[in-house]
Amino acid sequence: MITLHGKNIIGNTLSSKSNNTFKGYGMATESLANSQFYEATAAEINSAVYVADIAFAHYKKTSGNQKAAFLKSIAAEIELLDTMLIETASNESGLPIARITGERGRTTGQLRLFAKMLEEGSWVNAIIDTAIPDRQPIPRADIRQMQLPLGPVVVFGASNFPLAFSVAGGDTVAALAAGCPVIFKAHPAHPATCELVAGAIIKAAENTGMPNGVFSLLHGNSHNVGQALTVHPLVKAVAFTGSRKGGKALFDAAVQRTQPIPVYAEMSSINPVVFLPEILEKNATKLAQDFATSVVMGAGQFCTNPGIFFILKNKDTDNFIATLTAAIAAKPVQPMLTKEIANAYCHGVTQLRSSNGANGLVQFDENIATPHLLQITASEFMSNPLFSEEVFGPSTIAIVANNMDELMQCCERMEGQLTATIHGTATELFTVAPLIDILQVKAGRLVVNGFPTGVEVCDAMVHGGPYPATTAVRTTSVGTQAIYRFTRPVCFQDFPDALLPDELKQANPAGITRKVNGTIECINR
Ligand code: NAP
Repeated sequence: MITLHGKNIIGNTLSSKSNNTFKGYGMATESLANSQFYEATAAEINSAVYVADIAFAHYKKTSGNQKAAFLKSIAAEIELLDTMLIETASNESGLPIARITGERGRTTGQLRLFAKMLEEGSWVNAIIDTAIPDRQPIPRADIRQMQLPLGPVVVFGASNFPLAFSVAGGDTVAALAAGCPVIFKAHPAHPATCELVAGAIIKAAENTGMPNGVFSLLHGNSHNVGQALTVHPLVKAVAFTGSRKGGKALFDAAVQRTQPIPVYAEMSSINPVVFLPEILEKNATKLAQDFATSVVMGAGQFCTNPGIFFILKNKDTDNFIATLTAAIAAKPVQPMLTKEIANAYCHGVTQLRSSNGANGLVQFDENIATPHLLQITASEFMSNPLFSEEVFGPSTIAIVANNMDELMQCCERMEGQLTATIHGTATELFTVAPLIDILQVKAGRLVVNGFPTGVEVCDAMVHGGPYPATTAVRTTSVGTQAIYRFTRPVCFQDFPDALLPDELKQANPAGITRKVNGTIECINR
């Protein structure tokens, strides 16, 4: 049986000063559901940020290899938690063991991917413009630039990824890799999982000699903890995945600070899919089956869930929609992450079904999270903003357009998205360049003949997009490029060589690829 302390973890100290406790979220195990967690007090919040700030003075100078060792040790410590972690996360989230096991692999994989990037070292983007003393009419100074860490970062855990977007998830890894201490706000839907993984991080910090305060975990079942962290003067950035309401509230709080800070919130996306006519004529049954699987995957609780799709009205439309209706109706009801999320889903679908022109194609029970499909016309989509709002769960809307112009008008009116997908034959894809142009402006990731669910963690991934997909359109929250959310460029002018960071020294002791006087100087490792 798992034994939990339920306390806040402030660097290497456990703390439980509050009288305000809340219960755990175990769906199947009483010991989890009855465990107590202490909401962080104002003093504990302050202590966590304060030790993070002290830790930053040391951690920002930690070498890439040392940080890599820390990240690899976190991965190893997570693996040592073995079935206790898998069972706890599955219990708290209601997600199946197989899904959680896969998510653990993604979590440890991304820790090791960032470690590899740190060991290689060129991510700091070293750019050197050497002095030109005899330049006319004025000499040029020696100017050398690289990326340096921002300072203590607050990370909010997402309910829908209890491992990969939680305590040791993508945001934490990117911040730690950048050289920023992390204060983690645990999601109250999986506090026990948070405690276990936080323990693994603290152990790894001890194993690899990282400073006390490089990582802290604070619990809270009210918005007070997250709000207080976001406005704390020593916090330099916030990373968040969750609702549009939550992300926007934190963004607004951050910009109203005396010293505003960036909030990287990944919030709300309906991930449009376009099925072009020729491919539907050839492959309707398989596409309908695969699309239904994508809609209900993980009970639809993915930020990349395809919440709407477009098709043109023609002889194949009814057949495709009928096949998809049967496929979605045949999918089982799955438990959702929390009662609140299930209620929000049922409410959202009920609202959609009662909207003008909405044709509910599958039976829907307002009390359980039934997989759902609705049909509307393109003009109804354009006249009612409700059809553009994210309904988090296994639901999608078929939008039938009379012609390509009408379909493109719908796309023009869409808000920012994480993804946009087109299905088409090799020939018809080349006829829709104007549609691709529109989607490219709307989304961070464009997919051809695939499905948006399933985000690869790699160097080239973009998991981001214009508002409301995120509050920071210029970045990604998945993949190694996420590190740049927690760094800033600093340049050193006319510095003595010995005072420069190794990455910028003339002899390149760090051995990294750099841009010198406009030319990339490659180091092959
Ligand atoms: P949420 O309500 O946005 O909460 C996420 C985290 O942010 C929690 O730790 C919450 O902490 C904190 N938070 C939320 N609002 C806040 C505020 N005003 N001030 C300070 N902190 C705040 O998301 P959720 O609980 O995971 O799920 C609710 C809904 O979010 C879902 O129905 C879905 O619509 C959406 N969602 C979207 C995604 C996505 O990937 N796009 C993922 C998950 C959820 P406390 O509650 O402890 O304060």
